[in-house]
Amino acid sequence: MTANTAPVLLDLAPLGAAHFARIEDKVAALMRTRESVIAMQGEALLPLEACIRSAVRPGSTALNIITGPYGETFGGWLRSCGAEVVTVTAPFSGAAGPEQVAEALRAHPAIDFVSLVHAEAATGNTNPVAEIGKVVREHGALLMLDAVASVGAEPLLTDEWGVDLCVIGGQKAMTGPAGVSAVSVSARAWERIAANEQAPRRSYLSLLDWKERWIDGGRTALPHAPAQLEMLALEQAVDRIEAVGLDAVINRHRAAAAATRAGVRALGALTPYVTRDGDAAPVATTLRAPAGVDAREVVAAALSADPAVPVQAAAGSLAKEMIRVNHYGLAADRAVVLASLSALAAGLRAVGAEIADEGEGAARAAAGAAWDAALAA
Ligand SMILES: *Cc1c(COP(=O)(O)O)cnc(C)c1O
Repeated sequence: MTANTAPVLLDLAPLGAAHFARIEDKVAALMRTRESVIAMQGEALLPLEACIRSAVRPGSTALNIITGPYGETFGGWLRSCGAEVVTVTAPFSGAAGPEQVAEALRAHPAIDFVSLVHAEAATGNTNPVAEIGKVVREHGALLMLDAVASVGAEPLLTDEWGVDLCVIGGQKAMTGPAGVSAVSVSARAWERIAANEQAPRRSYLSLLDWKERWIDGGRTALPHAPAQLEMLALEQAVDRIEAVGLDAVINRHRAAAAATRAGVRALGALTPYVTRDGDAAPVATTLRAPAGVDAREVVAAALSADPAVPVQAAAGSLAKEMIRVNHYGLAADRAVVLASLSALAAGLRAVGAEIADEGEGAARAAAGAAWDAALAA
């Protein structure tokens, strides 16, 4: 970048406590919560780990609902806090159901903490948080939700759904920074955390430090120098969503996922990895490679046809079979979806997979129609 076009990042006036608090309030409004919201000065893994270490202690029984890679990470943290961990898993091609969760809660009455991921960008599925939250609330456990991949891409009603600890990050559908994040903490959760002798104190992972040194003091003095540039970027991201309208942003993500699924079905060879439309996350669409074809080769060929499309191979053990098309932020766009389908058609042809001669045109037409239908709905 030349000096002429670089944004001004240096010599800014300090970010004061009042401004910091105002940014937290804007984030709270976006999360639909009236509970405390703390802007955490690190990537979203920071508040996720902070929530678990603050609320869970030896003697806790935790229910960890695994629908993708983040749930697996939470299980390790829960165990390292000394909790007994009950695990409910759903295939990555679907979602966790409230009946499954209710059954686990009935079988293990001691469960006092539940961790759940809302949408999984890595596996492309989304879970019915409203229904699961109701079951968890009836049981009386705390509910922690990882909403990093859902905020801005689909409705997130933190208080209405009974979420006690809700974590968001700016880097997905909000098109914001990755270096700060936020967590909401319900009054019930604060009681549990304050009573936990193991909860981090005088630590970067401490939620209690923020409560005692920031919230309880009326948010008039920051406990340490804020990540100013990231906080300002977070504010701009929230302001932009409010200016466009949260519903419009959500609809764009929903349309992108619907269009991609429709396009792929018309194209042939690939199939949506998440079977039911209702379980598909608006933030990213995952696709199953044709039998005998390595997904990584399709992705490499698609990207050599069009390096700009948000298409990537899955990580880890899914890399051979799963292709991911991202829809977050600026990628939740009709032209980007159509270009992604064209690139995938080129990639499939290059590796010798069979698609119809008119496959690309049919895919683009089906995707365009699905986009229009989703926005009209
Ligand atoms: C993206 C994401 C995060 C944050 O992880 P990064 O890889 O650092 O972006 C956390 N949870 C979920 C469910 C996510 O999709």
